[in-house]
Amino acid sequence: MTSFSRQRRRIATWLAAVAALVGFVTVGPAAPTASAATPCSNGYVAISFDDGPSAMTPQYVQALHDAGYVKATFFLTGAHAQDYPQYVNQIAANGNWIGNHSYSHPFLDEVGEPNAFNELLGTNQILQSMTGHAPTLFRPPYGRTNAQIRQDATSLGMTEVLWTNDTFDYNGVTTQEIVDNALQVKPGGIILMHEGYETTLAAIPQIINGLAERGLCAGKIVPSATPVTAWEGTTYYAVAAHW
Ligand code: ZN
Repeated sequence: MTSFSRQRRRIATWLAAVAALVGFVTVGPAAPTASAATPCSNGYVAISFDDGPSAMTPQYVQALHDAGYVKATFFLTGAHAQDYPQYVNQIAANGNWIGNHSYSHPFLDEVGEPNAFNELLGTNQILQSMTGHAPTLFRPPYGRTNAQIRQDATSLGMTEVLWTNDTFDYNGVTTQEIVDNALQVKPGGIILMHEGYETTLAAIPQIINGLAERGLCAGKIVPSATPVTAWEGTTYYAVAAHW
């Protein structure tokens, strides 16, 4: 074989490789996108639990873990954190986020200042001493808030978080009703649940499966520039995003 024919053969091989590459790029993925089944293709929603830690915290943490290492945000009261300090660490050790839910769970818009501020400050100090991190998220009990309380949270480095979807799990509804309420959530939304209920615990795997079927993943709550409308026209500036 002459050097000229070897060179032609190399060029032919190279052209074939380019043609194959171009063909591959042009054709693209073989199958059409099945968006509903693609993980996280439709975005993120936040799963949140208020009022803990409780005697049931280990079961909640385990249910999230068993559902595929799913993470949630736990809004804890300072008083309950003092009752169950070991569970505060268990929540954090499993990668979940911890937020401030006041110290004694009062109507913050009725206790006045400096009581409201001290409810937030004291809980931040307790949670920071237990986890090593100051909370960056705050949820007012009952969603009862006002401009002064929002300012208190801001001055302590926290974003106020309400919710888009109340499961009413605290109101004696069934597990199926909790699941149905939770799955009304839209991308970016925040699901409100509570610690201490067997019905809520049983709903966790069904909610996570239902979200996955819609291409939604459990996300982290982050500040947002866009206001979100919560109950009775209240607004907050937070959204669920990639963890
Ligand atoms: Zn609460």
